[in-house]
Amino acid sequence: MGSTLGLDRRQAAEELQQRLALGPRRKNRLRRALLASTWTVTVAVLGSAKRIIDFCLALLLLAITLPAWTPMLFAASKAGSRLVRTVRVGRWAQTFQEYSFPIAGAGRILRVLHLRRLPALINILRGDISFIGPRAVTPGEMSPRDRITYRRYDVRPGLICLWWVRQRANIAYEHEALSDAEYVSGQTLLGDLGLALRAIPAVMYGHGVANAPDEFPLVGIRIHNMTMAEAVETMVAWNGQPEQHQVAFLNADCANIAWRDPQYAAILNRADLTLGDGIGIKVAAKALGLQLKQNVNGTDLFPRLCDALQGLAGGLFLLGSRPGIAEAVAGWVAKHYPAVKIAGFRDGYFAPAEEKSVIHEIRASGATVLLVALGAPHQDRWIDRNLAATGVRVAMGVGGLFDFYSGRMPRAPQWLREIGLEWVYRLYQEPGRMWRRYLIGNVTFLYHVALQRFRNQAGGRNTNKGIAI
Ligand code: UDP
Repeated sequence: MGSTLGLDRRQAAEELQQRLALGPRRKNRLRRALLASTWTVTVAVLGSAKRIIDFCLALLLLAITLPAWTPMLFAASKAGSRLVRTVRVGRWAQTFQEYSFPIAGAGRILRVLHLRRLPALINILRGDISFIGPRAVTPGEMSPRDRITYRRYDVRPGLICLWWVRQRANIAYEHEALSDAEYVSGQTLLGDLGLALRAIPAVMYGHGVANAPDEFPLVGIRIHNMTMAEAVETMVAWNGQPEQHQVAFLNADCANIAWRDPQYAAILNRADLTLGDGIGIKVAAKALGLQLKQNVNGTDLFPRLCDALQGLAGGLFLLGSRPGIAEAVAGWVAKHYPAVKIAGFRDGYFAPAEEKSVIHEIRASGATVLLVALGAPHQDRWIDRNLAATGVRVAMGVGGLFDFYSGRMPRAPQWLREIGLEWVYRLYQEPGRMWRRYLIGNVTFLYHVALQRFRNQAGGRNTNKGIAI
């Protein structure tokens, strides 16, 4: 009797244990529930701390700007309206009315100081928006049901957003919703403070002007004004055509070299694409009343080009940099874009007598896209001289790009790029080699731009007049 009871008890205990034991599915579900609740708690805690800061700061700013409100409201009422109310989509996809001053009644001071949006302080006090957060969109602009957009509605929209800062630095290559998702998932109070600080140079860079022609001359060099996506699309199309094309980049340093070297300037002007690279070109274009659509530099273009070349016929040849570097870049491509064929690679330290064999190697590899990293202006001269012999369809001079993708040299952090100061990081990395290029070069470049502006105005042939926006 006793032993039967003992057996029953043991069986019952085992059964209970089995029932309570978590199967892999249950464990997964529990892990997901835990993650979800951690996310909710983090968002709630961060949200309330941020709300308090927003409220206090908005109150303070309102108190400071209060004396200016009466004349502003008076100017606005002369235009027949007090405050403009625009329907926007806020947190949890709830709509709200955003306040602003009417543009017509805003007056010059208001426009110059960007004070039109001052009444949004009321929205911040009410909790509709925050100082920092994704842009408040209009209904229907971004569906909260979309997989890439729904995360942006987890938080209050803001006056300053990551995408806007990147846009001002000309590096907003991705869809706005991706920047929003990046902001929401990495959101911290310190990060918000950083974004607020990055908004200061962003305001200074400005949007500039609405005049963005497809081509324009800058200190004697014709620039093809296109976005990153357009540049990649053009090159991918060329990859499938029999004709050969040369692609070059123009940054402030290249422009200075071209100023002294008419032969190099002629090469840049002959290239099928000469793309505006760096914040210097944006600032220069703005000074001439033009808008550079985006900062199309080789380092940001490379992964996008690899992505677009995946699965296409042809292959990449990497020529340049120190021994082992091009090979490491080939490894990087194979890892991240396995469907891109690497036709070959070779370092850039070869004697002039070896040039023929290098060209033969490229031709024999059957490569269609050739990246040449020999530094400016040698790389562009090299391509100009040898493009026909290499047999490739697109050849592009890429400067120090291999050094970054091989891991030999770290690239400037994203926040520095967002304030247009990547060049400061390059200066910090190699002060001995770069001080002349940047410290003297940037001033020289701005001087040349000022000269062009003066000549344009004096000659009365300023075709660069833009409409300020
Ligand atoms: N380089 C080369 N052969 C040379 C001189 C330079 O392969 O005879 C490489 C060098 O190793 C570096 C690149 O060319 O990887 C030039 O880098 P730099 O930063 O000067 O280029 P930039 O972007 O400024 O044109």
